[in-house]
Amino acid sequence: MFCNDPASGLKAIIVIHNTTLGPALGGCRMRPYASTDEALEDALRLAKGMTYKCAACDVDFGGGKAVIIGDPLKDKSPEMFRAFGQFVDSLNGRFYTGTDMGTTPEDFVHSLKETPNIVGVPETYGGHGDSSIPTAQGVIYGIKAVLRRLWQDETLGDKTYAIQGLGKVGFKVAKALLDAGAELYVTDINGSAVKDLLAYSEQTSGKVHVLEGDAIYDAPADIFVPCALGAVINDETVERLKVKAVAGSANNQLLEDRHGDALRERGILYAPDYIVNAGGLIQVADELSQPNKERVLQKTKAIYDTLNEIFDTAARENISTTLAANRFCEERIAKRKERNSFFTAKQPPKWQIRQHF
Ligand code: NAD
Repeated sequence: MFCNDPASGLKAIIVIHNTTLGPALGGCRMRPYASTDEALEDALRLAKGMTYKCAACDVDFGGGKAVIIGDPLKDKSPEMFRAFGQFVDSLNGRFYTGTDMGTTPEDFVHSLKETPNIVGVPETYGGHGDSSIPTAQGVIYGIKAVLRRLWQDETLGDKTYAIQGLGKVGFKVAKALLDAGAELYVTDINGSAVKDLLAYSEQTSGKVHVLEGDAIYDAPADIFVPCALGAVINDETVERLKVKAVAGSANNQLLEDRHGDALRERGILYAPDYIVNAGGLIQVADELSQPNKERVLQKTKAIYDTLNEIFDTAARENISTTLAANRFCEERIAKRKERNSFFTAKQPPKWQIRQHF
């Protein structure tokens, strides 16, 4: 859906990719896209990714995404987000959205005045608060699944980690690993995050080595934990990595799916990003049915089991973990489709009931 509101200057695109598992859920990104085509392509690609991510963590939502064309530093206004809320509301509960790159929970407080179909709002507005907390917990469960698979021992502190990005997620992951006594190689373009982590490490039995820029790809660590940019696994870096596994929060870590095969050929176990980083999604999806932090934690723990299943399938069928993860999600969607066709004959699908939450 193309949303155009001249009064507020809103130009946005909402994409619903798949609603087999439930109403579409996906954040709203704001960027100064060079063209409408570029914005559309981004929204289409991200909405498809959300279909897989929702299926993987079993949250009864489908895939969707929204993009606002504009500069988040200059073009935002409360009116713009109210107008955006009206467009979301016009979809009658088929699409739920919230913060993503370039937008903040506070922006969506304005949208919330126009539609109830907003997630990830501040705690003062009934939300769960900082979603990077469960995301970081999910990364730790992902790392534990990798440790079990490769070393049959989940002790976090016995291994070394190369962490790229010490932001909201990476910093929390680094702290948890230091608390366990692990040795870390870290990098961040933000010097103050690095300084803060060094200060924190003083209170732990862990150790921090600071690396500059690209040197993180050559770090002599056991596990690479990308928590900054996407596309960091590419032709160049695959050859450089010394690690035995990759498990981190960054979205779209593989430049292309074939880089999942390249990691496998080099004997590097890849924990698919959209499974490892699902903790935040689990939390925002949970907001719609009476927020409960304990339930969020339980579902986040399931990331460990899902990864085990994916590692098993990949090993059994001699395929990359990326392909195994995609198939895992596609099978879940296909199974639900069969059940939905039976169910809808008797009563409305779940999303029609949920829209009034
Ligand atoms: P953030 O913006 O808080 O942190 C990113 C950090 O990476 C910053 O400290 C930044 O300085 C650093 N960085 C940027 N470019 C870098 C570079 N070239 N080298 C080293 N460091 C660099 O973001 P975040 O919320 O921590 O998210 C990190 C990643 O995880 C992103 O890819 C994000 O899409 C993904 N993710 C986050 C969540 C969440 O709940 N926050 C959920 C799912 C996925």
